[in-house]
Amino acid sequence: MNKIKVDENLCIGCGACTAIAPQTFQLNPDKGKAEVINQPEKVDETIKMAINSCPVGAIKAQ
Ligand code: SF4
Repeated sequence: MNKIKVDENLCIGCGACTAIAPQTFQLNPDKGKAEVINQPEKVDETIKMAINSCPVGAIKAQ
């Protein structure tokens, strides 16, 4: 099961999550929205920081 998910309807493509956790998030060049490129084994501190940095709360973790 996916641990983290980006809600593309909310994402404004600010790039905060991709700057903090580039191993996990990448901006999709066509959509201009963040996407998860690697599902982590667990939600670590870096990913938590990325989630908290999102200005629109678009990243959900389980
Ligand atoms: S921090 Fe939030 S709004 Fe910014 S690119 Fe990531 S998911 Fe999108």
